[in-house]
Amino acid sequence: MKRIAILGSTGSIGTQALEVISEHRDQFEVEVITANTNAELLIKQAIEYKPNAVVIANKDKYREVYDALSGLDIKVYAGEESIEQIVEMSSIDTVLTAMVGFSGLKPTLKAISAGKQIALANKETLVVAGEIVTESAREKGVNIYPVDSEHSAIFQCLAGEFQNKIEKIYLTASGGPFRGMTENELENVTKNEALKHPNWNMGAKVTVDSATMMNKGLEAIEAKWLFGLEPFQIDIIVHPQSIIHSLVQFEDGSLKAQMGLPDMKLPIQYALGYPYRLKSPAKRFSFADYPNLTFESVNTKIFRNIALAYESLNKKGNMPCIMNAANEVVVAAFLCNKIKFLRMPDVIEKCMAKATYIIKPSLEDYIESDKESRELAINLLK
Ligand code: MN
Repeated sequence: MKRIAILGSTGSIGTQALEVISEHRDQFEVEVITANTNAELLIKQAIEYKPNAVVIANKDKYREVYDALSGLDIKVYAGEESIEQIVEMSSIDTVLTAMVGFSGLKPTLKAISAGKQIALANKETLVVAGEIVTESAREKGVNIYPVDSEHSAIFQCLAGEFQNKIEKIYLTASGGPFRGMTENELENVTKNEALKHPNWNMGAKVTVDSATMMNKGLEAIEAKWLFGLEPFQIDIIVHPQSIIHSLVQFEDGSLKAQMGLPDMKLPIQYALGYPYRLKSPAKRFSFADYPNLTFESVNTKIFRNIALAYESLNKKGNMPCIMNAANEVVVAAFLCNKIKFLRMPDVIEKCMAKATYIIKPSLEDYIESDKESRELAINLLK
């Protein structure tokens, strides 16, 4: 039995992780679930899965959760600090980090220093502070299992290859809902259009990131830290059908790909069940449905976020953190109709030029940089 803590249980990854656990009750136990603000769903999940403890980050919702769960022998806590503390609980084996954005960083670091295995769905943690996170995991002998589908694909391709060097990887991208559109056509695209992802069912933040292609930029940075790669070893290829989830190229020129229908439950259960592949009732791939798998290069002149992400990757230090913070601000603004689609990279670029650059940042520096870049971005939005 693996005892799991799910940080962000009410989000898209969190709810799908609970479905995976339901299908494998003999393997997993839900030890802790946490949510940002969705008390109603958190309560429902707690009643169904009977975790040892729940945390609601939004303190205003504490009473509601506490009252609903009274008499159920489930501990109830509130506040972001409680999320950071609860991951240290001795009964937890694996922490699934499925919260959105920068907020995942501190609890992930706490979980690592407490020696918990990590199933990482929160890519921003590695984007912001990949060096500190991977160093501390190495020190503690903690494994970080990727939940992001591309990185799970690469991880799956690496099974049995640990003595072999990676020459390069290809991260596949669906291209999102705006693939192939011109700048003119993108001028007035709306939030609702951006939220209609052609293949994947995901949360709002990552879906907008997919539309702007920042998601792939963040994933390039995530890959650097997970697999110890240099920027030139990380390539992005647009593959609109989302059947090949990513590829590894070895030094003999061989390419290994991992394929399947797009379904986040597969990478979630691979990360939770590793090294075992657990049975899944999911629909199987049919060649008849996909006579053509196609590939295109990515247009970084239109989807400038990719270029900005590689720039931050090459600059190193706190530059990815600065870029990520600005991106979180513009995506939130876009979701409130406060910024146009094509203006988002402009704001990010300006923040990258203006924020204080630090080549070897400490954790405190990252927290400061995140704050500084957010303030810069908010001012640019006025
Ligand atoms: Mn992904």
